[in-house]
Amino acid sequence: MPDSNPKPEPTAPQEATLRSQALALLRRFYGFTSFRSMQEDVILHTLGGGDSVVLMPTGGGKSLCYQIPSLMKEGCGIVVSPLIALMNDQVQALVANGIPAAAIHSCQDEASNRQIADRLFAGQVKLLYISPERLQQEVARWSTDIKVSLIAIDEAHCISRWGHDFRPAYTQLAMLKSHFPRVPIMALTATADALTRDDIAQQLRLSSPRFFITSFDRPNLSLKVCSSLSSKERLKQIAAMIERHPHDAGIVYAMTRREVETIYRSLTALGYRAALYHAGMAPAARDEMQRLWVSGEKQVMCATVAFGMGIDKSNIRWVIHNNLPSNIESYYQEIGRAGRDGLPAETILNYNFADLVTLRHFADESGMPELNHEKLQRMIDFAEAKICRRRMLLSYFGEVMDHDCGNCDVCSNPPERFDGLMLIKMALSAIIRMGEKEGHKMVIDVLRGMSGAQLTARGYHLIKTYGAGREVAFGDWKDYLTQMLQMGLVEVAYNEGNALKVTPYGRQVLFSSEPFLLARPRRQHLMRGAKRVAVEPVASSPSERLLAALKALRSKVAKKEHLADYMVFSDRTLQQMVERWPVAIKELYGVEGMSNHKLVRYGFAFLQELRAQRGLPKDSDDASATSRVLAFVGLGITPLEIAGHQGVKSTTIYGHLTRAITDGLFDDFKLVITRQQYLRCMQLRQLFPGPEYYIEAEKEMPGGLPRMALAIAERLTRK
Ligand code: ADP
Ligand code: ZN
Repeated sequence: MPDSNPKPEPTAPQEATLRSQALALLRRFYGFTSFRSMQEDVILHTLGGGDSVVLMPTGGGKSLCYQIPSLMKEGCGIVVSPLIALMNDQVQALVANGIPAAAIHSCQDEASNRQIADRLFAGQVKLLYISPERLQQEVARWSTDIKVSLIAIDEAHCISRWGHDFRPAYTQLAMLKSHFPRVPIMALTATADALTRDDIAQQLRLSSPRFFITSFDRPNLSLKVCSSLSSKERLKQIAAMIERHPHDAGIVYAMTRREVETIYRSLTALGYRAALYHAGMAPAARDEMQRLWVSGEKQVMCATVAFGMGIDKSNIRWVIHNNLPSNIESYYQEIGRAGRDGLPAETILNYNFADLVTLRHFADESGMPELNHEKLQRMIDFAEAKICRRRMLLSYFGEVMDHDCGNCDVCSNPPERFDGLMLIKMALSAIIRMGEKEGHKMVIDVLRGMSGAQLTARGYHLIKTYGAGREVAFGDWKDYLTQMLQMGLVEVAYNEGNALKVTPYGRQVLFSSEPFLLARPRRQHLMRGAKRVAVEPVASSPSERLLAALKALRSKVAKKEHLADYMVFSDRTLQQMVERWPVAIKELYGVEGMSNHKLVRYGFAFLQELRAQRGLPKDSDDASATSRVLAFVGLGITPLEIAGHQGVKSTTIYGHLTRAITDGLFDDFKLVITRQQYLRCMQLRQLFPGPEYYIEAEKEMPGGLPRMALAIAERLTRK
């Protein structure tokens, strides 16, 4: 359909101005120096008034796409979000950067909601988060009474029945376009498929939207798959992971509540700071666990897949799947929660014979067995992949990658294969001789020549293959049987106690003499360590010591500020502090993630730690509040902004400046007063030579500035 009402795109010089304005805000409010791919395009498109659909993977940087234009435009940006926890996190993170943001939702008492509405009508909110249900209620009032600068729909796939997370409340969002025909709407999601994508645009009635689609690759996530580890071995694997990341958060996903609880108890018994989350817990207990983990007090979250939606924590360093997920979308979303800050993060996927049995059973019962079996099969294919795992993942999402990634287990350690025909025949013949009535455990016991009451009672010790495979470890046998299942040599009869049956293809192989390749199981990469109680590891190098000290300081500050640790500074910011090791405030300002607000609020505390770890005196010279104000002013932060960030009155800041000016410590006056303000003060001074001057001038200019102007005048005449 031709666009009957094309939106005017900004002209080139306008665009250059907007670009530099956007960049300045990025520096000031977020402490970042450049945009990631697409962010800038989305921002400019939105400033030009256009609708858009933004597809970026988790951690891709979607939030900035609507936050920056909201800051640039007059009025308030409305953000629709499905999850209250997510809204609250985002608002906290914004406020922690000095941005006036708020949320309205039904879990807040009406008094606070009303208070926020008042601030909204007074134009004091730049970003408002709201649930779709609530939006419906408010919208009529807003379209007349407040200036809406843009509307962002987060998790926009929730509007589509094709997506994997349809939410009926989202369908009401279709009315937004008619209520706000002139306001740009931005739909954001990390769900990639084309069907959902087009449906989003249609359901929201977007007017000739532009689609912004970035790569779904997350190169900082390492990918690893382990098969057929016993539960003890998997526990060791988790412990080893924790030991590799002694100060960092991680998630263990397991399939059932019982498994999650077992892991939680084992980790706790080993002395690790574990948290627990599953749908069977009381909501209050669950929320508390989540809070403890998000804030950094607990280190490892043991959870079912019920956990994680709306978790915004940027410094999750690892994810372990104790069991195979049921499809690749879920898997990618779950591992995607790690490493949102772009720093390396580790992921391990475990899969087991028992997982396959259970998941196939689930798929059978799911009501959509064909679809779900197909999805499961793709998941298994991935786990079994003998080619670069990232290539395989991206191809699943419709992207082509023309090189191996170098950051997955297949790339770093290609699987070794051997002719397993003898082993296969051994197993197949045992299964047949046992009448195809037994599950994998019994089959393996027979192959390994084990004794047992049931085994003997059923006469299995008498069959020809009894003990023929005693050289092969139990876990390895499990691995081979899993491979045989995947290759279609055997199948599982769920309705007969999960008995193994030989397929027609299996019978064919049983009588063939062609080599049949099996992958050699990999079970040796586990570190020891689960036996002992966790101790604080001693950091060895100065950088490691510094990082540990900075993380400890961050936790302390976070507690005091009632913030999660990553909201004070991201891991990436701490990492840069270690790499650059700034020892002056100006150098610290250059670190990524150092917004003005954070510099003013926490800068000197971190600087002291950085200096102390270098063996320098904690403060470079004089540590007075006045000299700190001068340092901030020297970096181009205005007195009013400093007052806002410190949460003090402007008179306090101007007071420091007045003193410094009188004492001859500061003379770069244009940083603290405009020429106009100064001339106006002088004018008023002539009119009011007495104390009325202060009263009159304060009416026009911020508190404390008129007094400072007099100090400047005095200095200038003295010169
Ligand atoms: P998404 O919503 O797409 O999952 P976020 O908006 O939460 O992703 O961003 C993920 C992380 O990337 C955040 O920690 C954010 O601060 C960081 N980030 C986003 N844009 C930039 C940028 N231009 N430069 C540096 N870091 C960025
Ligand atoms: Zn690879």
